[in-house]
Amino acid sequence: MPVKYVFVTGGVVSGLGKGITAASLGRLLKARGYHVTSQKFDPYINIDPGTMNPIQHGEVFVTDDGAETDLDLGHYERFIDEGLNKKSNVTTGKVYWNILQKERRGDYGGNTVQVIPHVTNEIKSRFYRNEEATEQEVAIIEIGGTVGDIESQPFLEALRQFQHEVGHENCILIHVTLIPYLKSSGELKTKPTQASVKDLQGMGIQPDILVCRSDYPLDDGIKRKIAQFCNVEKERVIQNLDAEVLYEVPLMMENEHLAHEACACLHLPCPEPDLSEWRKMIDNWKHPKHKIEVALVGKYVSLHDAYISVVESLEHAGVANSADVTIRWVDSERVSSYNVDEMLGGVQGIIVPGGFGDRGIEGMICSIQYAREHKIPYLGLCLGMQLTIVEFARNVLGYADAHSKEFNENTEHPMIHIMADQDGVTNIGGTLRLGSYPCVLADGSKAEELYGTKEISERHRHRYEVNNKYRDVLQENGMMLSGCSPDGRIVEMIEIPSHPFFLATQAHPEFKSRPNKAHPLFRGFIEASLKNGGMI
Ligand code: GLN
Repeated sequence: MPVKYVFVTGGVVSGLGKGITAASLGRLLKARGYHVTSQKFDPYINIDPGTMNPIQHGEVFVTDDGAETDLDLGHYERFIDEGLNKKSNVTTGKVYWNILQKERRGDYGGNTVQVIPHVTNEIKSRFYRNEEATEQEVAIIEIGGTVGDIESQPFLEALRQFQHEVGHENCILIHVTLIPYLKSSGELKTKPTQASVKDLQGMGIQPDILVCRSDYPLDDGIKRKIAQFCNVEKERVIQNLDAEVLYEVPLMMENEHLAHEACACLHLPCPEPDLSEWRKMIDNWKHPKHKIEVALVGKYVSLHDAYISVVESLEHAGVANSADVTIRWVDSERVSSYNVDEMLGGVQGIIVPGGFGDRGIEGMICSIQYAREHKIPYLGLCLGMQLTIVEFARNVLGYADAHSKEFNENTEHPMIHIMADQDGVTNIGGTLRLGSYPCVLADGSKAEELYGTKEISERHRHRYEVNNKYRDVLQENGMMLSGCSPDGRIVEMIEIPSHPFFLATQAHPEFKSRPNKAHPLFRGFIEASLKNGGMI
């Protein structure tokens, strides 16, 4: 059965939510019984975003098989609920890396290696899917960046060739653009969209569907005008207004017949979708019974995208508890024992997420101490767990200089140290402990109660771990090691049973939360926070 391909590109400006459009279409097709896969091509030259500063690029999303990927893959997983993998995110860096290795091996048989055909062939080989499947697969492929960028050109040329190879009825293009509103004249303007479509046409590519981001509804006249100038049918000019809730976008796109038009272009039947559960979720989202505030204490608080999966997980858990969760963004660099009361006073829960580097860690430690001593529900993630151990060592065990070796090589109490299999690793790209690892939960732990099972698996991205030398003293002083690797070698989760909710994990559970399936740890955290004074 031929795989059907839907490419998604963006024009006019970046940041229009191509990823959300792609993910929404995925949800609408999945709701019609299609097997949907997604992939993102990023034109930058890094091999992956793993080494990029989150302030520049937002969060690094991690897949089960340990790929460090663009945060849009997180949207795909959350919207479509299909696991992604190493092949799901391709960058220019990866493409050239392969080509250069082939060239050194002599695979090109003496030929000059060129953008066309060698780079475009390499890109196309990554578009192709296995055609053997018995289910109808629709592959949704987003091309990052904006049409017109120099970096994007080889990808668009590869798309042109690919469409020619597999046939237009098997491969369509959705172009996401902006229709700006000019306040002075009170008009929506179509010219930037026309220009962006002309850019595509100049490359021999004709979009089939235009998804137009706009602050105001597009009337028939505007749609007709765009259709006429861009060679697209009027029904295929689709408006995309701002959504109150991100997960409402698929429903808005359904009202605009996005999936219907995509199926028509692809010669696929378009049965009625089953969106009842999704609609119910949105309804719950919009009508919460409670209201709470939780503090997120981190160092990248100026760019919320740096913690996007954590934010989404908190919201999913809010919906599961019928609570509207407000996040108090707390810059950990500004927190000290002098102002912690003021910075964190009044919140119902505190969360310390992952991170690298020593900036702001003392403020995180201070916040953890505040949560522990004031019995405020607390969830620590990765670095958050490591600092939880450091805080406990300093303030409960009395090891004044306790630290993680990541931050103090010479501490007398290295509570957190480099993992054996990380020792001697010098390259920083792609060498962390990455991807899913199993974990066995302790009997009677809060974690076991929340997960409802003893054996779990979560995704990781770290280089340091709990120093096993301190296990006994931690336990003797009231800390429970509530999750360990199946061979018992690595501490994966800790709790303080005498506290209403104090749990930290070496993993990143935020990558596995879904809007209609909140992650158990986040669900438990929000539930506990609600008990700590949420408003009804
Ligand atoms: N920096 C810590 C480590 O490498 C924690 C990483 C993280 O929070 N993702 O182990």
